[in-house]
Amino acid sequence: MKITFCGAAGEVTGSQHLLECGRLKILLDCGLFQGSRAEAYFRNQGFRFNPADLDAVILSHAHIDHCGNLPGLFRKGFRGPIYCTAPTAEIAEIMLADSLRIQAEDMRYLTRKQPQHAPKLPALFDEEHVRQTARLMEPVRYGKWHTPFAGLRFRLRDAGHILGSAISELEFAERGETRRVVFTGDLGRRGLPLLRDPELVNGCDILITESTYGNRVHAPPGDLKVELLRIFRRAADIAGKVIIPAFSLGRTQQVVFFLNELANAGELPDMPVFVDSPLSNRLTTVYRRYADLLNDTVRQTLQADADPFNFPALTYVTTQQESMALNHRRGPLAVIAASGMCEGGRVLHHLKHCASNPNNAVVLIGFQAANTLGRRIAERQPRLRIYDREYPLLAQVEVLHGLSGHADVHDFKWWFEHLAAHTGVGQGFLVHGEPAAAQGLAGLLGDYCDTPPIIPKRGESFQV
Ligand SMILES: [Zn+2]
Repeated sequence: MKITFCGAAGEVTGSQHLLECGRLKILLDCGLFQGSRAEAYFRNQGFRFNPADLDAVILSHAHIDHCGNLPGLFRKGFRGPIYCTAPTAEIAEIMLADSLRIQAEDMRYLTRKQPQHAPKLPALFDEEHVRQTARLMEPVRYGKWHTPFAGLRFRLRDAGHILGSAISELEFAERGETRRVVFTGDLGRRGLPLLRDPELVNGCDILITESTYGNRVHAPPGDLKVELLRIFRRAADIAGKVIIPAFSLGRTQQVVFFLNELANAGELPDMPVFVDSPLSNRLTTVYRRYADLLNDTVRQTLQADADPFNFPALTYVTTQQESMALNHRRGPLAVIAASGMCEGGRVLHHLKHCASNPNNAVVLIGFQAANTLGRRIAERQPRLRIYDREYPLLAQVEVLHGLSGHADVHDFKWWFEHLAAHTGVGQGFLVHGEPAAAQGLAGLLGDYCDTPPIIPKRGESFQV
């Protein structure tokens, strides 16, 4: 069989891996490459294969760098099934619809940069492509084997990365032989709030593993709740505002769940909390509906608390008027809003109004990429540029770690050990990581493989 690494090879976005065995062509993930606007636009326009020739896509989870170019695939002729878990199908549809808004902004920017009489740039895809893509999704249950084509069976296991995320196990039969392929998707961690631990799977001939934090050790997630309580108490004491920029998918629900636990325990100070993101509100509805796929702590909470994503002091803001009204409200209060790295969304308005008051706090959760406003806040730069105006940064800045959804060195070791102990690992490929992280993990994975692991370059193919 042949594997071609079409994206997320030597980098972390644009996950797309093509498996060809006999006459079958299966694509693992169809993510959007994310980078500078122009580079991303031109890369995402094309595919390294003919989409119409694919038999199916297996989708690991609903982050845009894994599902974001599915409508582009449809636009270029793909009409096969997209296998994923039920929550992934629902979340992906919401995320793809939301990505149209971001795409429109990018297109406006790129069009402005075009020479005057240049032909109009085509959109990557439109609303109708998103709708049609959603119709191709075929939800499958965790753990159940499916045989969609002669010569292939597969099943999905819980990856513990976000709700619905999956590890894929595929078994191809070719000339009387079975080749077993395992794709981690994005591998989660043990002990994350809301999520179950990643499932352990047995060995394989070919392992394709992510490596985002293949050279790091994370702080434990439990500390975050204690930190949030400290920050909320301070705000309550001095009538400050707490602004929490957070990703709408996963991060917001985890923070709300922690606050809900504090509220249930009677520890949360008396102050209103607002989730100000229509996207988060839609996604939280999916988390509620699939609470049975969340971890035991959530299920225990559900026995006494019908909605672990709501407590009396919490309001889900919907309209823009309500959002704007928050800017004139006195503290203490807390606002959780997207985007997580402060690159857009309603959080910018809250930052504009709050950043220059030392009684307020900005709470950044997790990694802030270079060249983002979030990174500048994390670095405590004295002045922030928001919507073409400068604001002195006088608010307290808190950078909290521990909620990363990606496995660290210890998690990988634990997961690889089981994989290797049960029938071993043949060839390993490391994807979805910056070079240093992938190399770090290659050293670890090498201990468990028959042959040295490979870090493929984008576009590289291997006969295995
Ligand atoms: Zn992910």
